[in-house]
Amino acid sequence: MNPSEWFTEQVPAAGTAFSLKIKQKLHEEQSEFQFLEIYETETFGNLMVIDGCTMVSTRDNFFYHEMMTHPVLYTHPNPKRVWIIGGGDCGALKEVLKHDSIEQAIQIDIDERVTRLSEIYFPELCEANNDPRAELKFIDGIKWVKDAAPNSVDIIIVDSTDPIGPAEGLFSAQFYRDCFNCLSEDGMVVQQSESALLHLKLLGEMRDAMSSAGFSHLQTLFFPQCLYPSGWWSATIASKSALANFREQDANNKPFETVFYNADIHKAAFAQPEFVKKAFGL
Ligand code: SAM
Repeated sequence: MNPSEWFTEQVPAAGTAFSLKIKQKLHEEQSEFQFLEIYETETFGNLMVIDGCTMVSTRDNFFYHEMMTHPVLYTHPNPKRVWIIGGGDCGALKEVLKHDSIEQAIQIDIDERVTRLSEIYFPELCEANNDPRAELKFIDGIKWVKDAAPNSVDIIIVDSTDPIGPAEGLFSAQFYRDCFNCLSEDGMVVQQSESALLHLKLLGEMRDAMSSAGFSHLQTLFFPQCLYPSGWWSATIASKSALANFREQDANNKPFETVFYNADIHKAAFAQPEFVKKAFGL
């Protein structure tokens, strides 16, 4: 095997690696915030890598983008205003705007270059960028949330890079407190929460930080994502009010197409594995 034909993301702490065979490197640049690379792969379409970590591929991004958005949107009783913190590839924004109830969706990514490269290399993810309900801001999401007025938003989707560099503060109790303060009464945050297999400690710390910020109900959901370490990813919803009311009928009658998400997947994703229950006393 010629290593130069493969992109490999190593996770030394876990002793694992994931590789994709590449056709060519399409782009690389050091932005103000991070090192961005785009590859054309043999079988996964285009691949975006930030600081050496796989972010998005053409072929499998639907798992992540659908599961970061539709479960929380069909759990909230009446979502109208959504913020996406990070999410510069615009895939989450596209899924959010499939919901007719949404009146405003603001994407706040610190790095404009991620979005500009997505427009070129992942145009299908950017299809909703010109929707009149969409607004793109290129500023620090931590500051945006800190400065926001109470009752400004119904759902905050934290679609960030891993908790290092500019994203580190997005995993802190202070950030969740700021989210709590600007959410409406039934408000919810959903955040990508890494792999329960590889990062259980981090997941536990996130959940503790969310609880300490005042969120009374937490729910971690699970989904496949072969591009990310271990191939099994999670998102955690922190809600100000009870999380019981899945709008199952609405999900069953959703007026738009998805590749992965449906009402059965929704219910299955909320099932808690035994080792997770044990770790978090559920
Ligand atoms: N799906 C990806 C994953 O889990 O690996 C995340 C994709 S998305 C491209 C991550 C985005 O988070 C990047 O575009 C990065 O610029 C953004 N980001 C990191 N820190 C941020 C911050 N403090 N405020 C706003 N956006 C941030």
